Amino acid sequence: MSDSEAAETTLAPVTLDSKLANVVGGKTAVALGKAFGVVTVGDLLSHYPRRYARRGELSSISLLPLDENVTIVAEIRSVEERPMKARKGSIVEVKISDGHGILALTYFNQSWRARQLLPGMRGMFAGKVTDYRGHLQLTHPTYKLFGPGADDEPEMPTDAAAAKLWIEQPVAIYPATNTVASWQVAKTIEILLDSVLSVPDPIPPELRAERGLLPQGRAFELIHRPETDSDWRRARDTLRFTEAFVLQSALVQQRLTARQQQSTPRVPTPGGLLDRFDAALPFTLTADQQSVAGEISADISETHPMNRLVQGEVGSGKTVVALRAMLAVADTGGQSAFLAPTEVLAAQHLRSIVRSLGPEPASELMPTLLTGQLSVPERRKALLRVVSGQAKIVIGTHALLGDKVTFFDLGLVVVDEQHRFGVDQREALRQKGAVPPHVLVLTATPIPRTVAMTVFGDLDVSTIAELPEGRQGIETFVVPLFEKPGWVTRVWTRLAEELALGRQGFVVCPAIAPKQLEEGAEVDPDAAAPASVETVLAELRRNPALASARIEPLHGRMSSEDKDQTMRAFAAGQIDVLVATTVIEVGVDVPNASAMVVLDADRFGVSQLHQLRGRVGRGGVPGLCLLVTSAEAETIARQRVEAVAATLDGFELAQVDLELRREGDVLGSNQSGGRSSLRLLRVATDGDLIGEARAHAQRLSEHDPHLDTVPALRDAVRRRLDDAERASLTKS
Ligand code: ADP
Ligand code: MG
Repeated sequence: MSDSEAAETTLAPVTLDSKLANVVGGKTAVALGKAFGVVTVGDLLSHYPRRYARRGELSSISLLPLDENVTIVAEIRSVEERPMKARKGSIVEVKISDGHGILALTYFNQSWRARQLLPGMRGMFAGKVTDYRGHLQLTHPTYKLFGPGADDEPEMPTDAAAAKLWIEQPVAIYPATNTVASWQVAKTIEILLDSVLSVPDPIPPELRAERGLLPQGRAFELIHRPETDSDWRRARDTLRFTEAFVLQSALVQQRLTARQQQSTPRVPTPGGLLDRFDAALPFTLTADQQSVAGEISADISETHPMNRLVQGEVGSGKTVVALRAMLAVADTGGQSAFLAPTEVLAAQHLRSIVRSLGPEPASELMPTLLTGQLSVPERRKALLRVVSGQAKIVIGTHALLGDKVTFFDLGLVVVDEQHRFGVDQREALRQKGAVPPHVLVLTATPIPRTVAMTVFGDLDVSTIAELPEGRQGIETFVVPLFEKPGWVTRVWTRLAEELALGRQGFVVCPAIAPKQLEEGAEVDPDAAAPASVETVLAELRRNPALASARIEPLHGRMSSEDKDQTMRAFAAGQIDVLVATTVIEVGVDVPNASAMVVLDADRFGVSQLHQLRGRVGRGGVPGLCLLVTSAEAETIARQRVEAVAATLDGFELAQVDLELRREGDVLGSNQSGGRSSLRLLRVATDGDLIGEARAHAQRLSEHDPHLDTVPALRDAVRRRLDDAERASLTKS
């Protein structure tokens, strides 16, 4: 019997699903679990190095970020022990260097450090960098010394060639915390790699050969314990493709599962509600609206549920398309739930839907509002209409998701402005159908193809690219106060000129009151206070240029009645200027509004600015958008603002946004679900790879829908879906 056979019979083989605690010991497993949320062997093996250092190289001290946990390679310059001044005890102060800068390490009452840390030694040091009276320091850092005398570190070999290798070999540096250092992660991963680990391959052999990928086990070995740079590069390429392939396979599987669900087909009655609506429509649908409408009616006439995302610029006419689907469902006696992100929008949708239906169908369909702000009797009445099936169209906010809300026959769920909602909420509403309802998601935030493939990969995507005719367009200008502080006066005279033409305007501020930031605005404690609704309102009311203007506030701290009333008065032309927060961001529709002034525009994201701008130029009057910023030229903040001014193309902006934002924000924890988010894959740069992985995943699932020929892939897909489930369970 060979050694390895003996091991097989005495030890249960370690798999990716083995609990870490059973392999590396409970204490280590608990520490790693707390630090990184890892539970299984597979979890830890996918905790990839952040970068690779070299024993012979020193990290640049001047580039270290303050107040972050860092791991650096440095050499000890001096070690000094002295008594503390005010108290009993001693301080050991160690100076380490990269050859240029000096970083001080301090230890209180740990004299033994002075015997362990000797000048001339090199090693890795980890801790939080702080600035102590102008000098950089690490307080009580942990370290691992290289070379002779240091524990579990291979000693520097004596022959010259081996020594060179030792110096040049990449040393994995892991994401670490203040409780678990990089080398502790490395040590545990080493134990896993040295155990009887069986790692089956989730990539079918032909595909692996075609793309020149490493076997999975080899890739884990080389990403964690490379001997050369090309080792970890090859490993990273393999693992990145694997990640894309597993993710796409999981999404394809989800789609297949959804296809197998039964739903009620909804085919409109000839001469029914939908036909009458179409006949009375005061305009013709654009070609894009028609083709999307066609896709939707094909989807909902099937016996499995529709899962479709419709993306289209603000004002491209998505709501009309959604309303037509609701009418088709109503023709079959079914109900539709329309989920809006805010009370203001829910109320506005109700009004505009009632208006576009006309009086007779409106009484037949009994459109009903269900929000958190209803009084108890109103709410009871609404719930009754919903449960009895009388209300064929139910419009609401989160309140629609509540336990008490029961439908008689929920046939269609429409989610407006998807980015405000997570997958979970879409799911919660879906659960309210006796059979799975059809689902339509609307978004005005254009989604780059790669994000659509990763985040919304379980949805079919339709696009309305053209705007209805007669839109006058919007001109956008950056007002750079850093260079031209005087231009602010010109902003208000420009606004006054618009009002003089009988038009209306918005002034958007990041904050409500001088110290109160509206949600979504970015906080920078060092920056000057952002423009606030309260201050700006007072200023504008005093401004002689705007002396005759009726100026009112609108923000999230007002009661929803007040907000609603203000919006109505604005829509009716009784208010000239709204000084608002981003409450007005989505969906607000006042065709006579022509001017949009955004103050401290750099505090908003690219897509938020684009959405805000979409509030003007909606009718027959041209829009004007002034983005006022104090950000200096060349900063990222300024680039965001300039990008928005440079184009009206939402897709282009979405791509810019993707490049300027960090990855985590793109997927947003509510979209991707905590720990299961991407590791090596970058939606901004790996578009082609993701597309290829998707094509391969689809081809495989066509031949082998249950993935029986690649059991390791089936397991990886299950793990991925479990992860998403785990993440969504821990969130509620
Ligand atoms: P979205 O929801 O995509 O922002 P809406 O559906 O609210 O857009 O449409 C914006 C405005 O344009 C509404 O007043 C709507 O009645 C109008 N509209 C929609 N489609 C057309 C069309 N094909 N022609 C003219 N006006 C349209
Ligand atoms: Mg809309």
